Amino acid sequence: MTQPSEKALVPFVSVDHMMGLVHHIGLETILRDLADEIESDFKRWEEFDKTPRVASHSEVGVIELMPAADRENYGFKYVNGHPKNTSEGLQTVTAFGLLADVATGYPVLLTEMTMLTALRTAAMSALAAKHLAPKGATTMAMIGNGAQSEFQCIAFKAICGITDVRLYDKDSNATAKCARNLVKSGLNVTPCTSAEAAIEGAQILTTCTADKQYATILSDNMVGPGVHINAIGGDCPGKTELAAAILHRSSIFVEYPPQTRIEGEIQQLDADHPVTELWKVMSGTETGRTSADQITLFDSVGFAIEDFSALRYVHRAIAGTPYYTNLDMLADPDDPRDLFGMLQRAK
Ligand code: NAD
Repeated sequence: MTQPSEKALVPFVSVDHMMGLVHHIGLETILRDLADEIESDFKRWEEFDKTPRVASHSEVGVIELMPAADRENYGFKYVNGHPKNTSEGLQTVTAFGLLADVATGYPVLLTEMTMLTALRTAAMSALAAKHLAPKGATTMAMIGNGAQSEFQCIAFKAICGITDVRLYDKDSNATAKCARNLVKSGLNVTPCTSAEAAIEGAQILTTCTADKQYATILSDNMVGPGVHINAIGGDCPGKTELAAAILHRSSIFVEYPPQTRIEGEIQQLDADHPVTELWKVMSGTETGRTSADQITLFDSVGFAIEDFSALRYVHRAIAGTPYYTNLDMLADPDDPRDLFGMLQRAK
């Protein structure tokens, strides 16, 4: 049996390894690092090959491929979204991803991305809020207390200085789970029994629910002047969280308009309704929040550059650690053109 050479081995980060890496680096540190990584990639937005993600829809969910590339690396994520999964003991969102070297086309990293997606989504939300939320915001309503929720709360603490979170989920077990998981987070946690109660006194409203319909998690009368809305869960055609009237009162910030127009809250608006691209706010060519009364809305759907940033971060972070294994996933004949001979010799 021939042994693959070092250059043909691909580092693989399993779920166990990812959890080890997060604890090794520290949860709040990794969230801040990911936010910095995403921000520096958003600031060089024009260097990327970009495309809306490729989505395959079914009655019950969606499976998506999310590619992005710069001159050095190509990355993609495979991700699903199946809101009914939790009732069957499965997760709504699972993912894995790959980073490759553009010069050779060889993969340089294969990794789980279910954990990594929760981390990068939370980092991205808090990063957007850093630019858009009212200064001095201390309190966030967290509506939807599923898999993403604790990551969101901790990212807002680590990156925006949030001290208080007010939780609500239509399933009180989810709220109890979230509150329990946040006991040692350093956040003041208030479980609430309605969305109306959760938004009381909150300057930041996060909606992170999963339901394959035009839902109304926030109705128009629930949104007062000056708040920042971080709308995570509306991320598919026919899947939204906000009453359309809120959108007409808000300054709307998006990742990549060609994708958000199809998938985000703004699918409810005319195709030419004005939105601001977040990368322009981060690079200083557009303004974020301009007044204390303004309602700012991050219409988050999740964009491939955020995954690219996360993949590159993990690729660097695992070097010299035990948090990966090498996979023999590339055929590596001694003579590169003798693939068939390699097969014959293996008999
Ligand atoms: P999850 O299924 O683990 O949790 C969703 C929670 O929403 C559940 O606890 C459910 O009870 C609750 N919920 C549903 N309808 C509700 C309602 N009307 N009021 C209150 N609570 C309600 O899902 P998750 O992994 O936490 O993901 C949440 C959402 O975020 C999904 O829709 C997912 O597609 C989306 N998401 C977006 C991004 C992004 O980048 N924008 C990334 C990851 C996930």
